[in-house]
Amino acid sequence: MNKIFSIAIHGGAGTIDKRQMSSEKEMAYKSALAYALDQAYNVLSEGKTALDAVELAVTHLENSPLFNAGKGSVFTHEGQHEMDASIMEGANLKAGAVAGVSGIRNPVQLARMVMQNSDHVLLSGKGAIQFAKEQKIAFEKEDYFYDELRYQQWQMALKEDVVVLDHSPLNENKFGTVGAVALDRYGNVAAATSTGGMTNKKFGRIGDSPLIGSGNYANNNTCAVSCTGSGEFFICGVVAYDVSCLMEYKAYTLEQACNEVIQKRIIAIGGDGGLIAVDKNNNICLEFNTDGMYRAKKKHKGEEYIAIYKD
Ligand code: ASP
Repeated sequence: MNKIFSIAIHGGAGTIDKRQMSSEKEMAYKSALAYALDQAYNVLSEGKTALDAVELAVTHLENSPLFNAGKGSVFTHEGQHEMDASIMEGANLKAGAVAGVSGIRNPVQLARMVMQNSDHVLLSGKGAIQFAKEQKIAFEKEDYFYDELRYQQWQMALKEDVVVLDHSPLNENKFGTVGAVALDRYGNVAAATSTGGMTNKKFGRIGDSPLIGSGNYANNNTCAVSCTGSGEFFICGVVAYDVSCLMEYKAYTLEQACNEVIQKRIIAIGGDGGLIAVDKNNNICLEFNTDGMYRAKKKHKGEEYIAIYKD
């Protein structure tokens, strides 16, 4: 068993204006991040797998109303909550994902069930819900997902007739696709990502988060990646896999690969956002091209790092 392990998480990247953030709000975000980070760190320390750690971290973030995933998911054009999530294991390149699901308390857990208990990688809409019932996963009523600020954001977006990314200034300080990447004591990496998508999005719109290779990817030969940002661009840029490819085919370091993709390639096609990544050598990268990204990391016996704005 390896001694080293590490975990990194994010709660979304975007236009996070320090002047608009109260110290109470900042504290609330930081403690939600710290809680998810610590829980995941503890299970890694006990010898559980990277897959367990990323699922647990994302579950906690989904349970927080502060982030745009699970409980805090944004409203669609019709006033619904349609969530996307995925999970991937770097040891065997196995993955599971769900798209456009409503009423599921923890979409990341359903994604793992798709990976482990079905013959498929991605289930969507009604089929995913039918599978969720068979798996006896926890469902929640509509009011569980209601959040006054999210509702106001939706009303504003409806009035202005725009589809709003969680990064838009219209959304003030509320950001928040969530994700986690981890390296465990056995040398395996894993990644998980979960989101409510975009405020006022069209019925059936699916972002990058449940798409393996775009918003989420893990490969023991290279790294584990979880993305947040303008999903349509992250899909076309195949961002998470691009990071892995630069390492595998061009021998880039984790840092070089993340920097190239987020600071050059995604910007070149018009996208903005960020990602978190960890490699088999215990390097962690938290890269973004926006004003901020809710993020945290901790390595075995290392110090906890939690940040929101650019350093
Ligand atoms: N990437 C997500 C999506 O497009 C949004 C986000 O990261 O905030 O669904």
